[in-house]
Parts: sequence; C-alpha cells; structure tokens
Amino acid sequence: MAKPDSKWKQALRRRVLAWFRANARDLPWRRTRDPYHVWISEIMLQQTQVVTVIPYFERFIAELPTITDLASADEDRVLRLWEGLGYYRRARQLHKAARAIVDEHGGTFPRDAESVKALPGVGRYTAGAILSIAFDAREPILEANTIRVFSRLIAYQHDTTSSEGQRVLWGAAGDFLPRKHVGDFNQAMMELGSEVCTPREPSCEVCPVAMLCPTRAKGLQDVIPAPKKKTDYEDAFEACVVVWRNGKVLLRRCREGERWAGLWDFPRFAIKAKRGAKLHRELGESVRRLTGYEVAIGERLTTIKHGVTRFRITLSCHHAEHLSGRETKGEFVWIRPAQIEDYALSVTGRKVSERIATMLLVEPE
Ligand code: SF4
Repeated sequence: MAKPDSKWKQALRRRVLAWFRANARDLPWRRTRDPYHVWISEIMLQQTQVVTVIPYFERFIAELPTITDLASADEDRVLRLWEGLGYYRRARQLHKAARAIVDEHGGTFPRDAESVKALPGVGRYTAGAILSIAFDAREPILEANTIRVFSRLIAYQHDTTSSEGQRVLWGAAGDFLPRKHVGDFNQAMMELGSEVCTPREPSCEVCPVAMLCPTRAKGLQDVIPAPKKKTDYEDAFEACVVVWRNGKVLLRRCREGERWAGLWDFPRFAIKAKRGAKLHRELGESVRRLTGYEVAIGERLTTIKHGVTRFRITLSCHHAEHLSGRETKGEFVWIRPAQIEDYALSVTGRKVSERIATMLLVEPE
C-alpha cells in the first residue's frame, strides 16, 4: 500500500479541484448549497443512479420546498412522491428527520456533526456529504465511488468491506481533504469515481490524477479494489391476490417491519404450492389469515419476476371474489381501480394495478 506524502496530497487536491471546476455535471441539487436540497439529493442517491434521481428530486422539491413543508406533509404524500425510487425506508426516515429538525432545531438544518448524525436515516457518509457540501465543513465521505478511487490511489489490495479496510479508507478520505473547498473536493472524488475511475476499464488516459496513481503505474486496475464476494441468490415464491367486491378492489397497508412498510399493496404472502387446486386452497387460506375475508380464488392475472436484495421472487397474481368475513386488525381500503393512482404502492403493486387498468380497457362491456 502506498503512503502519500504532503507534496502528493497537495498535487491531488489541486488537480482534482481544477478537473471538477471544468467537468462537473450540471445537476439540479448542485445549483444551490441549501442543506435541505443537499440532504434530499443525498438520500435519494443512496443505491439509486443520478439519471433516475433527477426527476424525483425536482418533483419532490417543487411539492415540498422546505423542511417545514416536508415535516407537515402526511406520510402517504411523501411515499407517493417517492414511489418507484425503492428503499422506502429512506422516505419514511426522511420524513421523521424533518419532524425532528422542526421539533428540536426550530426548522433549521443543524450544522454540527453530532446533531446531523442523530437524525433518522443519516449515517456517517450522509452527514459528511451534507456538512461538507452545504457548509464546507471539513468532513470526509466514503461511498461506493470513493472507496474505489481511494483504494486505487493508495493501491489498497485488501477487502474494502472489512473493518480494517474501512478504517484505512476513512483515514485516507480524511487525510486527503483540503482546508477549503471541502464540499467541492468530496463531490469531485465521487464524480471522478463515477465518470472516470469506473469499476471496469477506468479511463486512466483522461484521469487528472493519473500521474499520481500507483495502481495505474503497476497496471493493477483489474484487481484493485479487491473483487467483492458474489451474492448467493435465493429463489422465492410469493402470491398477491386482487380481491374484488362490487367493482372495488382491496388494498392493505404494509405494516411496520414488512418489506414495504407504510406503502399499500394487494394482499401478498409467501406460497409453497405452484399450481392447481393446492395453490387455490393455499391462496384462499392465506387471504383469510391476512385480511379476515373468505374469498373465491379466480383466474391468474399475471406473473411478475423481480429481485429484492438477495431474493429472486416469482410473484403469482390472481383475481378473487369477496364472499364474506370481517377484516382482521390492520389498515384496509376498498377502492375503485381508477382511485389506485392516489395511493403509494409497492413496485409490484403498481405493476399489478397497471395490469388491471389494461385488462379493464380491453374487457368488453
Ligand atoms: S489513473 Fe486510472 S485507476 Fe488511477 S485514479 Fe485515475 S482512473 Fe483511477
């Protein structure tokens, strides 16, 4: 592993900042240093690509332009604005954090690291990003892109996810920070990682720090950072049931601790049987357990394949007719298909609702 001296670090800061000034992408959250904008963008960008985030960010800020607006919005509205971005826990925590900022900091985003880290959903990386970008505080950051760039700049060949790897890389992130323009430097390192120092075939020929890079000098770009262990995917089988009653369908709000907590969904559960009478029996029993209703299972509506974390899920969707029974504890609504648009749904819930809309369009009167 290389141990950079102060001359090397100065050259790195100078070159990276100059490169960023000439090459920074014009992104909507970069047009202001308002900590609210920086915060929303940072939370949205977790596990989500920039191009996907841009329209969500613009819509979110247009509808909820201040921390106070976010704090006073109801959770359904926040989830609806987030729908499609995934990882809905982020939206719920964002909402809780806005309420904490209003209650504990008078609606002004806090400037000290301890208060920022105490906000729901804000970890070490996010706190560093907000504080450095909005207030130019001397706080380091480390995320997927900078892990790669720093590993290559110090030729760190070991596991970057181990506690030792994290200690070394957070150390480098702090050690390389300039005294001024910290926010620009942090953003520049992330941008360098996303646009130039890419996981495969980095563009070393146009990299502003190529002459400082030991990984490039030794031709080790393919082995630094050390490749991650492959995820072992698991197949899972689930079903969702569209229960009909007088032209209305049943939606259920997912409870705390469930995959899509806070969002609405068609009754959904894991299944063992794949087809035939056994499947119909299992679907009926599961609907009764989850909702309290007796239903008659009908035709299959569609099958959706999707991935959540390490699970590869096959979701079998069926129609059902309500027969009798009373709702169990939980939140349920019976709504016309045209009203589904107003509810924040899980990703697959939205696909099922689109399928229902198509079906209703083509069905003869
Ligand atoms: S020279 Fe290549 S490997 Fe080194 S930081 Fe630049 S892009 Fe990454």
